[in-house]
Amino acid sequence: MPRITTKVGKGYRVTLPERVREALSVGVGDYVTWVVEEGAVEVVKAATIKCPYCGFEAPLEDFKLVRKPWKFRFYTVRRLQCPRCGKVFNYYSGKAPSGKLVEYVTKGRA
Ligand SMILES: [Zn+2]
Repeated sequence: MPRITTKVGKGYRVTLPERVREALSVGVGDYVTWVVEEGAVEVVKAATIKCPYCGFEAPLEDFKLVRKPWKFRFYTVRRLQCPRCGKVFNYYSGKAPSGKLVEYVTKGRA
């Protein structure tokens, strides 16, 4: 497992080394998610969600959660509000019985 060291610069900026960019297949404009667990940090390519109304695409954190998430079958359902058009939709994500991660959006009642 290769170890790569990079320096923390002004504003705590860190360059993603080429090997890491390749491993995550991320480029300029993409998002990464830092998963902080006891004593370790994992960096993964961020999943993005696309507004079904206006096409705005961003990570989950950029959408406003308008009510507490709930469970539907094996999904967690989040009712989200788009920061660009203000419309509300449902984002379903979960692990299917086959083990496959499944996610999709539906237009909810506004
Ligand atoms: Zn939108």
